[in-house]
Amino acid sequence: MDDYYSCPCGYKSKYKGNVTKHKNKCSELMKINFLKEIEGYKEEICRLKDIIKDKERIIQEKQHNISVEILQKKDDIIAEKDRVIQEKETKISSLHDENVRALRAQNDALLKKSGQTNINNKITIINNTIENLLPIEFDKIGSYTDKLEIEHLESPEGIAEYALAHPLKDRMICVDLARKNVKYKDHLGNVSTDKKMNKLTSLIFDSIEKCAGVDMNQLCGESQKQKKAFKTKFKKKCCEATLI
Ligand SMILES: [Zn+2]
Repeated sequence: MDDYYSCPCGYKSKYKGNVTKHKNKCSELMKINFLKEIEGYKEEICRLKDIIKDKERIIQEKQHNISVEILQKKDDIIAEKDRVIQEKETKISSLHDENVRALRAQNDALLKKSGQTNINNKITIINNTIENLLPIEFDKIGSYTDKLEIEHLESPEGIAEYALAHPLKDRMICVDLARKNVKYKDHLGNVSTDKKMNKLTSLIFDSIEKCAGVDMNQLCGESQKQKKAFKTKFKKKCCEATLI
């Protein structure tokens, strides 16, 4: 059998030439070769498909990486922007605080200054006014009663008008309206405080009684309460008119 040549279809011959001739026209062999060729193509297709799959996988990976990279960059950019915004906001906030503090300090200083100035001005005005008061010469108070008119005696306010126009003119100032405290200068030029204006009121009322012959006791009212109310109205008018 070893001396025979053969064709895959099963044909055998001990002559090589016969087998070669046979093979040239053997349809079975052609079929086998064709199938082999197809098989080869199939394998090639499978191999190519694998290559394509591989390439696709690589492309996908790259795309994924690029996406991740872009997202990362985007995140980085956003984070950086956030940081810058935060920084600016902090700076703005701190500037704002600084400005508010500066303004408050300025206002406080101004208020303090103006308050101080107002107090100083007020003190200066009071001092100047006191300095410019004319002295009251107690024993000469009565000499003004010739200016007294009937109308003055009709009300406590009327008596106050008389007093302010004549014996007390430029001679008293009220420094506390609620308490009716007043200041005046005595005949030596010393400044005195008359609490509740009691002293000057007595002085005026007594002078009218003594020098003008008016019964002040009767004029002021019957009861102590009425008398007190009458004098209070007189004092109030005097104080309101001379309040500093
Ligand atoms: Zn054959």
